[in-house]
Amino acid sequence: MRQKGNDYMALMTPVVKGFLTDKGLKVCSDALQIHGGSGFTEHFPASQYMRDVRIALIYEGTNGVQALDLVGRKLAANGGRAVMGFFGELDAFVAANQDDAALKPFTEGLADAKAKLQEGTMWLMQNGLANPDNAGAASTDYMHLFGLTALAYMWCLIAKTCQAKIAAGDTDPFYATKLTIGRYYMQRILPDTTGHLAKLTSGSELMMALPVEAF
Ligand SMILES: Cc1cc2nc3c(=O)[nH]c(=O)nc-3n(C[C@H](O)[C@H](O)[C@H](O)COP(=O)(O)OP(=O)(O)OC[C@H]3O[C@@H](n4cnc5c(N)ncnc54)[C@H](O)[C@@H]3O)c2cc1C
Repeated sequence: MRQKGNDYMALMTPVVKGFLTDKGLKVCSDALQIHGGSGFTEHFPASQYMRDVRIALIYEGTNGVQALDLVGRKLAANGGRAVMGFFGELDAFVAANQDDAALKPFTEGLADAKAKLQEGTMWLMQNGLANPDNAGAASTDYMHLFGLTALAYMWCLIAKTCQAKIAAGDTDPFYATKLTIGRYYMQRILPDTTGHLAKLTSGSELMMALPVEAF
């Protein structure tokens, strides 16, 4: 248990910091946008939040460096023990819940995201060691693929709890609302995993193609 805790702490730190602060900036930008032009002015606090949240991508290690930490150090540590443990936990959840019809949108989404994350991890193992530029070029997309998959798992756990409450006769609309928001995540946000996998497996050749003098 202690070892698993240490493994998860090491593995998830760059994911939580990098992925969630990137998403936090987007959420803040959307919050500003719904106010239209007024959102950009000082009539609402949204513009101040926008500036305040921007630093979260930089301090305590820039998100680019967090992504390099994930692929360069955390994945390979202890022969990949932490990431393999995480994959095992996701597989166990899907296996235990895939026959529950009410949870199908969640277990199917998680299984698909996990398969993509595993494919991206294998690609990194095969191509990142041979050429470190491949690992660097893939790192930010890999971090986002990882974050999206981990968040899908969190939504699965939330959905399972909400579903159990509803099945037990709890009529609080909170649970049905959570399930709808979770299904929105699975349907409208989680498919971003496809793009991140395509980008990360495209390799570093083009990213490194321009000579230094071109900058
Ligand atoms: C408001 C504020 C408060 C802060 N508070 C603290 C604090 O309390 N304690 C503290 O210790 N520090 C603090 N810092 C410093 C902060 O931790 C650094 O600014 C941050 O780690 C980034 O380092 P840097 O500014 O040197 O940027 P650099 O490391 O020069 O990064 C510049 C850019 O290059 C990229 N980059 C860097 N290295 C690589 C690489 N090897 N490969 C590819 N890309 C790379 C980065 O991702 C970034 O986009 C604070 C900074 C700010 C702005």
